[in-house]
Amino acid sequence: MNNVTPGMSGDDELSPARFNRDVSGTRVAFGPGAVGELPLRLEAIGSRRAFVVTTGGRSAALLAPEALLADRLAGLFEGAREHVPVATVAAALERFRAARADACVAVGGGSAIGLGKAIARATGAPLVAVPTTYSGSEMTSIWGETDAQGKRTGRDPRAKPSVVVYDVTLTFDLPAAMSAASGMNAMAHAVEAMYAAGVSDDSWATAVEAVRLLARSLPAVVQNGRDLRVRTAALAGAHLAGRALEETSMGLHHRICHVLGGTFGLPHARTHAVVLPHVVAFNAPAAPKAMTRLADLFMKPDVAGALAALDRAVGIHSTLRDLGLRAEDVERAAEEIAAKPYANPRPATKDDVRAVLMAAF
Ligand code: NAD
Repeated sequence: MNNVTPGMSGDDELSPARFNRDVSGTRVAFGPGAVGELPLRLEAIGSRRAFVVTTGGRSAALLAPEALLADRLAGLFEGAREHVPVATVAAALERFRAARADACVAVGGGSAIGLGKAIARATGAPLVAVPTTYSGSEMTSIWGETDAQGKRTGRDPRAKPSVVVYDVTLTFDLPAAMSAASGMNAMAHAVEAMYAAGVSDDSWATAVEAVRLLARSLPAVVQNGRDLRVRTAALAGAHLAGRALEETSMGLHHRICHVLGGTFGLPHARTHAVVLPHVVAFNAPAAPKAMTRLADLFMKPDVAGALAALDRAVGIHSTLRDLGLRAEDVERAAEEIAAKPYANPRPATKDDVRAVLMAAF
């Protein structure tokens, strides 16, 4: 059973402060201070030697792994990078094996969790995710890796975290710009889930609740990143968006962002934020049920316009050109995006893809 709303109690409540439950085989602990229970969570999965992976910067400091894990800490790798380069995976795996670790703890955003997934797939060790952005990757079995040929992704049950610990206090220092972009990345998961082929009643309701929480909380999050209530709502929204991503197949929007990130090196979350309104404008005529519900949630008839307005409200004003796409790459990008089949409510030719890219350029 995978009932949707983790304790939502009506429209006035932004989100639950705390819950602890099993979601499709993953133990999810959510609440301020939840990271303090990490040793107990490791004990529960039989781990004595945890290997922590994170991106450089503040995530390791936020977790303070030496103090928190004490003699359970087998090693620390702080070099996780966006899009999971294979060289990074090789370096981290060598350290994981040398440390004789029996579990991987990924602390940070999608980049740290992506590296944790690569280690879990290669070793069979359980993965514990402590997300500190809104990527939603912690709730999925979707892995990605990038080499000279580009980015490959797939689904593998070994990549799915056994335990996810959401501690909202770890998100307080996520900068406004990153919170905004990452939040719109979560929004994209939820929006594409709503018009995905084969969306179930459960994943529909999960996605709807994700959109509601993210739309309400993100403008406030960028105003005051230390507001527990809105940070909690955004994190709960990201959790639900990750679940919606896991339960459905993504469409044109995710295909575009995959290629722009993997082949052209554009930044993941910001690219999602910039592209989403344009793909929704393209898909809208073929997704009436999703558009009606989204219009209702945004209280605006034009959903693409509402998403563009939300981008602006959270301080995102970029174009694909600003994010590093060159005019001479648009044609090649359109070709690569259109070359592979993917599920989408409205079939998109190369010309259609080029038009969407140019609208976002
Ligand atoms: P990220 O993990 O690259 O983090 C961005 C930056 O924020 C990093 O420098 C990091 O150190 C910093 N940071 C993270 N948390 C922080 C905090 N609380 N306070 C201060 N700084 C913090 O960015 P992201 O957008 O979370 O993840 C992007 C990656 O995730 C991409 O590689 C993408 O492909 C992947 N992803 C995968 C899935 C999936 O289901 N497999 C879903 C979404 C994204």
